Amino acid sequence: MIVVMSPRSSREHVDHVVQLLDDMGVRSCVIDGASRSVIELLETNGQLDRTRLESAPMVERVLDQPAPILAMDRASGNGEVQPREIPLGSRGVMGGRRFSVIAGPCSVENEDRLIETARGVADAGAVALRGGVFKPRTSPYSFQGLEERGLEMLARAREKTGLAIVTEVMCCKHVEKVEPYADVLQVGSRNMHNTPLLKAVGEQTKPVLLKRGWSATLEEFLLAAEYVIHAGNPNVILCERGIRTHEEYVRNTLALAIVPEVKRISSLPIIVDPSHGTGRTHLITPMSRAAIACGADGLLVEVHTMPSRAWSDGDQTLDVGQFRDLMQNLKSLAHACDREL
Ligand code: PEP
Ligand code: MN
Repeated sequence: MIVVMSPRSSREHVDHVVQLLDDMGVRSCVIDGASRSVIELLETNGQLDRTRLESAPMVERVLDQPAPILAMDRASGNGEVQPREIPLGSRGVMGGRRFSVIAGPCSVENEDRLIETARGVADAGAVALRGGVFKPRTSPYSFQGLEERGLEMLARAREKTGLAIVTEVMCCKHVEKVEPYADVLQVGSRNMHNTPLLKAVGEQTKPVLLKRGWSATLEEFLLAAEYVIHAGNPNVILCERGIRTHEEYVRNTLALAIVPEVKRISSLPIIVDPSHGTGRTHLITPMSRAAIACGADGLLVEVHTMPSRAWSDGDQTLDVGQFRDLMQNLKSLAHACDREL
């Protein structure tokens, strides 16, 4: 059972309900969302007085089952919900009026190439550097990532450029390894349904970049975000990266209609990955423009010093010059859409 407080409730109102539950012998747990708190009843016993609960000040409703409330807070409430702004390292932010671009190689390969890429994307206006060190590859014979060595390289790239670091975790053990190095922990498409991992990233404090599972519905996507928020971490950035369809001219079908729909029902920011979303370098710029136009909060783009030599995903990777052109190309459109780039 879950008690949904009004967005206008204060801490005192929430404490009052917790006390009320306590008096009834019911253990509870408060979850503070962006716009409201909800109180989850952990163990109910025979003394629960539902009517008293429902008539307590600023209680909006009492639901019989835990419901997806926080990730869908625009849909569930009648109060005004502000879009959430999430810190990206020390100088960036995701959400609000900013259009924030995360760029970098699919995989971290070596330090020189990483630093050269980081400098290039920082000069062009990226706010964060991406780079995988634990790689989810389809074949066990493909390059699997540099692991801890790669984390050290990412940390040095941050020192040299000031860019925030975004890198993927694939299992719970990775979380404690990556957390000290990264500014944002990425949960990839293959792991969107990995609930122990969602809980583990929810129990630490760094923001989480959650990619849509390639067969996930919007509801499943938001419920995966809910797992992270429910575990205690409200800083979730959603990422549309394309879904599997019968289509073959692209690696995935970039389902951009999800962007305005997420904006309608959720306060979470959502970005678009036109690299994995198309698998084709020449489609990155047009789909990035489409992402701005439909209201996305940013992009995740693969960039490498020499894409033809990249150890993974070269076909969907821009070189540094192409990335600079992309950023230039997006400026006037961002301005027209009232976004800062
Ligand atoms: C990635 O961004 O490095 C990645 C593996 O993407 P996805 O999880 O979307 O396949
Ligand atoms: Mn990739």
